[in-house]
Amino acid sequence: MNELVTGHYKVVVIGAGFGGMYALHRLRSEGTQTICFEAGGGVGGTWYWNRYPGARVDIESMQYSYSFDEELQQEWSWPENFSAQPDIERYANHVADRFGLREDIVFDARVNSMRFDEEANIWHLTTERGDEVTAHYVISATGSLDATNVPGFPGLDSFEGDWHHTSQWPKEGVSFDGLRVGVIGTGSSGVQAIPEIAKTASHLHVFQRTPAFTMPNNNQPLDPDYEREWKDTYAERREAMRTDQGLSMFPPKYGAILDMEPAVREAIMEDLYASRSGFNLLVAFNDTMVNAEANELLAEFMRNKIRSIVTDPVVAEKLCPRYAIGTKRVCLDSGYHATYNRENVTLVDVRESPIEEITPRGVRTADGEYELDILVLATGFDAVSGSLTRLNVTGVDGLDLRDKWKDGATNYLGMFVAGFPNLFMIHGPGSPGVLAQMIAGAEWQVQYVLDVIHDLDTRGVQRIDTTAEWENKWDAEVQTAASYTLFGDTDSWYKGANIEGKPKSFMVYVGGYDNYSRRCREQVEADYEGFVLSP
Ligand code: NAP
Repeated sequence: MNELVTGHYKVVVIGAGFGGMYALHRLRSEGTQTICFEAGGGVGGTWYWNRYPGARVDIESMQYSYSFDEELQQEWSWPENFSAQPDIERYANHVADRFGLREDIVFDARVNSMRFDEEANIWHLTTERGDEVTAHYVISATGSLDATNVPGFPGLDSFEGDWHHTSQWPKEGVSFDGLRVGVIGTGSSGVQAIPEIAKTASHLHVFQRTPAFTMPNNNQPLDPDYEREWKDTYAERREAMRTDQGLSMFPPKYGAILDMEPAVREAIMEDLYASRSGFNLLVAFNDTMVNAEANELLAEFMRNKIRSIVTDPVVAEKLCPRYAIGTKRVCLDSGYHATYNRENVTLVDVRESPIEEITPRGVRTADGEYELDILVLATGFDAVSGSLTRLNVTGVDGLDLRDKWKDGATNYLGMFVAGFPNLFMIHGPGSPGVLAQMIAGAEWQVQYVLDVIHDLDTRGVQRIDTTAEWENKWDAEVQTAASYTLFGDTDSWYKGANIEGKPKSFMVYVGGYDNYSRRCREQVEADYEGFVLSP
C-alpha cells in the first residue's frame, strides 16, 4: 500500500514482524477495521532488518514458525534445522501473501507519534511519511530487539571507510573481499557474523569487550524423516510447546547437576553438546540457572570447549567468559571459536585496552590504532523498551512514555502501561518475550488481547487502563521470579545495563510462560483485577 492513509480504525497494529502479522491476520479474519504500519520495506521484522552474513535462528525452525494454521505448517518446508535469515524472510513473505496481509500493511511507514485523546478515548497516530490516523486500540508489535544501539564512539563520523550496524544491514549486501575489517561486539550478532566475514576479509580484527558463551548449533539440512515425524504430530507438539515454560520443546531434564557424579555429568554434557541444539545443554539441568555452583560446572565445561578449540592459549583465555552462563543471552554458532585459529583473524581485548576513538583510518584503542577499510558494529539494541519509547507516545495528562519509564519500564502483565489506555504491547517489558519462543509467545498474547477486546465490546467498555499500584505489584512478581535465578548477577541487556543512562531493572518475566499465561488469565477472570475499565 503506497498512498497516504487517513481515517479511523478500530485497531492499528504497529510492526509487520511475526507478532504484528499474526495480529493483523486475526483482526482481518474477524472483519475488524484495521491497518498495520511497518517501518521497513517488507515483512519479517527482526528478520527483515538483521540480514548480516551468518544471521540464523537459534530455535529449531520446526518450532520457530507459526502454529495457527495447520495447512501452513504442513505445506511449508524448511531447508535446515536452524534456518538462515533469507529463508525466514521468505517464510514471512509466504505468510503475508498466503493470507493477503499486504493489502492492509503500509510499508516504509515508521510511526513517529502516538497521542491519546482522553475525551474521545482514541489514539492519534502519525508516521514519518505523513500518514495520520485515529484508532480505538493500538497493538504495538514493535519487537524487543529493534531499536539499534550505536554507541557514541568519538570520531565515528570521521571514519573514511563504510560502517554498518548488523541490524541495519544493506539489502544489497556488503562485500568484505580482500578488505581489512573491524567488528565491534561479540554478542549473538557478532558471533554469527564473524566466521562469515573472516572467510573473505584480508584481515579481521574483532574488538571484544565481553566474551560470549556460545553453543554449537550443529546445524544440518532438515532430515525428511524428522520433518515427517513433526508434521505427522504437529498438533500434539504445538500443544506440548504451549504448556512449556519457554514455549519450546526440549529433551527431558536430567535433574540437578550438583547431584551427579563427575563422570556422569561430563558424559551428559558431552552428549548434549553434540546434540541437535547446543541449547539443550542450557536447559538440561534444573539447578544451573538458580545455583552458582551448579552454573559454574556448566560454565567451566563450556570454557574447556573453548580451550580445546582455540590453539593459542592466551587467545583462548580471553575468549572465556567469566560470568554465570545463561545470564547474558547464550548464542548458537557455526564455528565461532575456530575462527580465531585463522591467520587473518586477531582478537583485540577492549576491556584491557578500551576503544578511545574511531579515526578516519580505523579504530584507536589504548594500545594503538588498527587500520581498517570497513567497520561492522554488532553492538546490539536498546532492548525491550527502546522500540516503544522511540515512538513518541503521549498518554493521559500529556504524559510522555519516556518520562513515565525514566526509572524503569513499569507495566502490568507485560502488556499494559498505566496512563496509556487501550494500548496493548506484544513482547513488552514485564512479559516473558525474549526468553520464550517468540512466535508462539506472540500467538498467545495476540489471542489474549483479542479476547480482552471482544469482552470489552460485550461489556460496552470504551477504555481499559491499569494503575501504578498494580504496575508495582506486577513488577514485584517479575523481580521475585528473577531473584530465584542468577539473572540478576550479571549486567545484560535484559536489565538495560548495555545502554548508558538507562535505568537498570530486570525487564523479562522468567517465571515461565505457563505461570505468566495463567496470571494474565486470572487477573481478567477476577473481574479485571488491576485494570480500570471505563464505559
Ligand atoms: P548484544 O548481545 O547486546 O551484543 C552487543 C555486543 O557489543 C556485546 O559484545 C557488547 O559488549 C558489545 N558492545 C556494545 N557497546 C560496546 C562498546 N561501546 N564498546 C565495545 N563493545 C561494545 O547484541 P546482539 O549481538 O545484536 O544480540 C542481541 C540479541 O539479539 C541477542 O542476545 C539475541 O537475543 C538476539 N539475537 C538472536 C540471534 C539468533 O537468534 N540467532 C542472532 C542475533 C541476535 P558488552 O557485552 O560488554 O556490553
